[in-house]
Amino acid sequence: MPVSGLPPYDDGNIFARILRGEIPSRKVHEDEHALAFHDIAPQAPVHVLVIPKGSYVSVADFSAKASPEEVAGFWRAVGLVARQLGLEDQGFRVLTNMGSDAGQEVPHFHVHIFGGKPLGPMLA
Ligand code: IMP
Repeated sequence: MPVSGLPPYDDGNIFARILRGEIPSRKVHEDEHALAFHDIAPQAPVHVLVIPKGSYVSVADFSAKASPEEVAGFWRAVGLVARQLGLEDQGFRVLTNMGSDAGQEVPHFHVHIFGGKPLGPMLA
């Protein structure tokens, strides 16, 4: 087991199943590199998850293994989704949990986009 406490990529994780269309999601965007959908348990008026289409356990895994095209395509999708949701004027937060200390629940790299209200300071 790696230091982060995350096992190797498991194709049966819930986001892999969403990518394969085996589980429904409230999709907001999809392109070659990324899928974005509403979080099932929103923590803010807008709470969307953006995931890469490739099989990466975490941000560390993604950073180490994804091609420059995948990395660029993924972050382009994050910005596009925020714009599409009308979050740019008021601001929004992008967050990723990485590994056991951060409480990462789903072992497929994802970023959370939070917005739709004043979010306050970031607390560790
Ligand atoms: P993590 O703690 O950063 O891994 O966050 C995982 C997120 O996935 C949580 O905010 C969950 O509410 C969300 N989640 C889990 N299952 C589903 C689902 O089936 N659809 C949408 N969001 C989900």
